Amino acid sequence: MRLQLPAVEIVQDKEMKLYLTKLTVRQIKGLIDSKQLVPDTYNPDIRLESGYQRTLDKNRMRKILNFLESKYKIVLHIMPTSIVLSARKSNTEPIKFNKGQLIVGDDARLFVVDGQHRVYGMKEHKDRNYEIPTTIVYGLNEHQEAAQFLVINSTQKKVDPSLQLRVLFYAQEKLMMNLIKEIKNVIPWQSWKLEALKIAIELENDPENPWYKRVKQPNDPSSEWKPIKEGSFVDSFRHMCSENSPISQVPMDMKAKYLRKYWNTIKELWTKPFEEEHLSDYILVAPFGAGVLNTLFPSILTLNTAIDTSFEDLLKPISKRYPVRSWSRRKGELSKLGGGHGTYTYVAEEFLKTISKNFDYANLREYERIREKAPHKMKGLVDKAYDMLSSLQLRSSENLKTEVGKHKRACYVLANLKENMNMDVYVRQSKTVEKRLSSHSKKFNLYNMEPCANEQEMNHLEGTLWHLVKESVRANENHPNAEFCPFCA
Ligand SMILES: [Zn+2]
Repeated sequence: MRLQLPAVEIVQDKEMKLYLTKLTVRQIKGLIDSKQLVPDTYNPDIRLESGYQRTLDKNRMRKILNFLESKYKIVLHIMPTSIVLSARKSNTEPIKFNKGQLIVGDDARLFVVDGQHRVYGMKEHKDRNYEIPTTIVYGLNEHQEAAQFLVINSTQKKVDPSLQLRVLFYAQEKLMMNLIKEIKNVIPWQSWKLEALKIAIELENDPENPWYKRVKQPNDPSSEWKPIKEGSFVDSFRHMCSENSPISQVPMDMKAKYLRKYWNTIKELWTKPFEEEHLSDYILVAPFGAGVLNTLFPSILTLNTAIDTSFEDLLKPISKRYPVRSWSRRKGELSKLGGGHGTYTYVAEEFLKTISKNFDYANLREYERIREKAPHKMKGLVDKAYDMLSSLQLRSSENLKTEVGKHKRACYVLANLKENMNMDVYVRQSKTVEKRLSSHSKKFNLYNMEPCANEQEMNHLEGTLWHLVKESVRANENHPNAEFCPFCA
């Protein structure tokens, strides 16, 4: 199908050409029928040229059609926002612009970057002459188009990248890595998902990994049961892939490599829940187990390097305290706790306490006392101090060397975990940290750090941290900044 459309040419970013035009329902239907309009590009199925409509939400399409054909008196049938189509670069010049007219050749393929439900909802509209504003972007390659799709969808509404971006994994790995780097700058709060997706796909496709063939992928037939959906599996990597994860400096491929070893160790210690016939009896090979143990993973990897102890030796005390029966779906103590990230974090912290009771260094009672006592504007600071003391946030002091001097003002929690699993916790502010590190560089093997906006916040935070570390573990000889402290009785 060849079309001639009135259009305005827009140039962005020096050489990117966009065409603002319109399409009628009749034209959209024609383009779909001739397979020139392609929805849902980021579904690997599209490569087989079949079945792509499966992932379209029929309900959403029907709502759009109902809206267009309804008889409202006040709400008019207006859809003012334009759909976005991409005509990829090719040698045949699929689209041509000349004197206000855009020629869409009969070999042109237009990929829907934004608005696929509108496009498919409209297709059945009785009014064949209804027009929709349309933007056609010309000259993106497949990967730029995918990035554009993610940016549009992430800035406008929720998007589940596990569906739309899987295709990138199958594209060249290097491009995927570059995209992840770029996305980190554009939409940093979303970037963990890409890394998490990459790791998830790697684990579920690795025959040497206990998660092999245990993850239900978006295009698996719905009749087939698997213990976890890919969306939940991806979500379980949130903590380890987040910007402020204790292992954020560990490259993605190394994370995947360590995870294989980690999960195989877990399988050796808790064997039964991994057996095919028992999969559904336990919540270990399930969203709960993935959520808890993947939240714990950064801490295990950190301890593994900081105190040179194997995964097995670190996980053993956990398996003693929480044996297979604790994970029983019907009667286990863990299955009473429910799900969600809050629970996973809580359980992972409990697990750490079985490795060393001194990981229980944050004083909850004192936190409640001083939060109550704190003037309204300081409550946030008390929360910040308490969050900083989560044992799951401790990172290896190897990273500390690169961090010192990076922030003019910061507070540090420094921990020294010994081989006998005893631990001291110090709190420090930026200046003294540098002094201390230069004099005894081997003193701390774990730390956490938070930058502060000004001198006053730094002094208050340091004093608050001192209060919140349990006395039995605290190694500061004196209360720092006691002269400013609003919490001393
Ligand atoms: Zn005080």
